[in-house]
Amino acid sequence: MIGPCGPSEQRSPLLEVKGNVELKRPLAKATSRLPLSGRRLKRGPDQMEEALEPEKKRTRGLGTRVTTTHPRAAALNSAPQTQSQTAVPKPPRKPAPRCSTAVAPVLKTQKPGPAPAQRPGTTAAPPMVGGKKPKRPAWDLKGQLCDLNAELKCCRERKQVLDQENQQLRDQLREAQQQASALGAERRTLEEELARVRARAEQGQRELGNLSARVLELEERLGTQEGLVQELQKEQLRLQEERRGLAARLGEQERRLQTSEASLSDSQEEVASLRQEAAAREAVLAEREDRLHGLEMERRRLHNQLQELKGNIRVFCRVRPVLPGESTPSPGFLQFPSGPCGPSDPPTRLSLTRSDERRGTLSGAPAAPTRHDFSFDRVFPPGSGQDEVFEEISMLVQSALDGYPVCIFAYGQTGSGKTFTMEGGPGGDPQVEGLIPRALRHLFSVAQELSGQGWTYSFVASYVEIYNETVRDLLATGTRKGQGGECEIRRAGPGSEELTVTNARYVPVSCEREVEALLHLARQNRAVARTAQNERSSRSHSVFQLQISGEHAGRGLQCVAPLSLVDLAGSERLDPGLALGPGERERLRETQAINSSLSTLGLVIMALSNKEAHVPYRNSKLTYLLQNSLGGSAKMLMFVNISPLEENVSESLNSLRFASKVRSLASPSPSGFLLTIGFCTLVLRASGTCIPKGCTFARHLTVDFWGV
Ligand code: ADP
Ligand code: MG
Repeated sequence: MIGPCGPSEQRSPLLEVKGNVELKRPLAKATSRLPLSGRRLKRGPDQMEEALEPEKKRTRGLGTRVTTTHPRAAALNSAPQTQSQTAVPKPPRKPAPRCSTAVAPVLKTQKPGPAPAQRPGTTAAPPMVGGKKPKRPAWDLKGQLCDLNAELKCCRERKQVLDQENQQLRDQLREAQQQASALGAERRTLEEELARVRARAEQGQRELGNLSARVLELEERLGTQEGLVQELQKEQLRLQEERRGLAARLGEQERRLQTSEASLSDSQEEVASLRQEAAAREAVLAEREDRLHGLEMERRRLHNQLQELKGNIRVFCRVRPVLPGESTPSPGFLQFPSGPCGPSDPPTRLSLTRSDERRGTLSGAPAAPTRHDFSFDRVFPPGSGQDEVFEEISMLVQSALDGYPVCIFAYGQTGSGKTFTMEGGPGGDPQVEGLIPRALRHLFSVAQELSGQGWTYSFVASYVEIYNETVRDLLATGTRKGQGGECEIRRAGPGSEELTVTNARYVPVSCEREVEALLHLARQNRAVARTAQNERSSRSHSVFQLQISGEHAGRGLQCVAPLSLVDLAGSERLDPGLALGPGERERLRETQAINSSLSTLGLVIMALSNKEAHVPYRNSKLTYLLQNSLGGSAKMLMFVNISPLEENVSESLNSLRFASKVRSLASPSPSGFLLTIGFCTLVLRASGTCIPKGCTFARHLTVDFWGV
């Protein structure tokens, strides 16, 4: 359909809308050139009918009325003509007779044409009177016939004309029907197109709605963006301000940088010189480390030499104080004569004066008291503190760290202070801490110091009790706690010199707290079976052993040594006055076992000092267990603990005699030997303990000082 604006504006309404959107023309101003503009689209089909009405009416008129007016006929004529119409040119139409009755008036009003030739026998037609044809007289039949003929002829002509006209009208009707059907088809096409246009319009509306929503959304976003832009502008202003500040600072920094660069180059030169200095110092440091290590080894060597000069077997005597409730001994019962350098010299001698009432003179007067003098490596009078005692043995503990086996015994009668010396007094007072906790603390602290020189130490503790020649674990826990269970002393492996106690716990320790816990456990585990004189703990040997392993990974050195701290069973003899009941028989057995093991200890020390081929280690569990801690370069220290009471004088004398015997067994001082024959290097090499990895310590121990 061609729009009212002509062919040049024949655009699809949708294209128009789309064009508007594409060109971003304001939608409100867009005028649709569609025949069904926004407002017109709202018209219903009836309104469309009206728009099409003229055509319809025209078609209807053609279809129903043949007697159309000329303008309509003209309209029809102006319509595109069918082929048949073009083939038969249509004559100008005359008003068609409406009906047969209309013919008469026409005929009546028809002007007479030229008078037809009068046929013979007829009269001429009478002249017209007053416009009306004069009636023929009745007689003039011929004339009437003639008139009738003329009229018939006229009718025939008229009929012919009417037929022609009828034919024309039929043609026109057919033509009109064709046009009607064409127009109907055209109408349907238009309706379809209208529907399409409507659909497109609706779609356009929807799109328009969507676009409007989108526009609103965009406007909203635009508002947000504008707010953002304003914020950004403010931020920009702030940043510009900051930038100016930073630029100023940058200038300042650049100036400083230049200054710094200048000083940097100076510093770099300085660094270079310092590096050279550091390299030189590192070399010096390495050299010093070597020297330090050498000095450490030298220290160990000298320390060992010092210990050996002091004696590989040493005996200290400790006299416990008189306890509250005990009778004070008579003055002069125990004396501690000063050393050669006077009272400042640590005492090494002890005199015990015994007034034996059983002995008498012939006159009946009591015999003069007997004075017994003893000399030891050190004597600790009753007032000596635990720290004083430990100070004296700390050097031995150092020897253990250096790789020398160390064994410390506490010997004496029950109640003389052995346990006090080894484990400490009751109550956990640090002042009365014994040798075991102090030695362990010292070991941990020295090991820590040596770690700075590349040494790494580890400690493994065990604590067993030997009662009646049976070994029990004092560190047993769980079901074995308190029972101890049977333990056996075995070699660690075939051909191994190392000894181990089966079923006993070996606990790694690294701090004092762990050691305290172990001592506490041992106290709990220790047998508490009472005897006639004391607890069973006094009738058994308690052996605390610490396996010390040191390694210097950097230099491939290793040192392993046991530190043994032994609280021996009470050395008192069985009172011969006691009746031999079942309990006493048991005590007799205990005492025999104790005496046997103590005498074996003496024999072992003797065999070692005499360099005998056979050392009777196996004669008692105690010496067998301590086999690796005795002899060779091992350091042995025996505390002889004695009671300050006069009533214990007999046992005290026994203990002092045993200790003196042990001391007498101590090897002659190697100092003279070394200094005299100058075998110092050889001797020390033989007894040195820093051995290459892989060598067993026991094999090393076979090189004996006295074997040189
Ligand atoms: P042992 O173990 O030889 O049988 P103890 O160590 O049990 O003897 O000592 C017996 C008693 O004497 C304990 O009460 C202990 O506290 C005390 N004692 C021992 N030696 C000392 C000392 N040097 N100072 C203070 N009290 C001591
Ligand atoms: Mg004890």
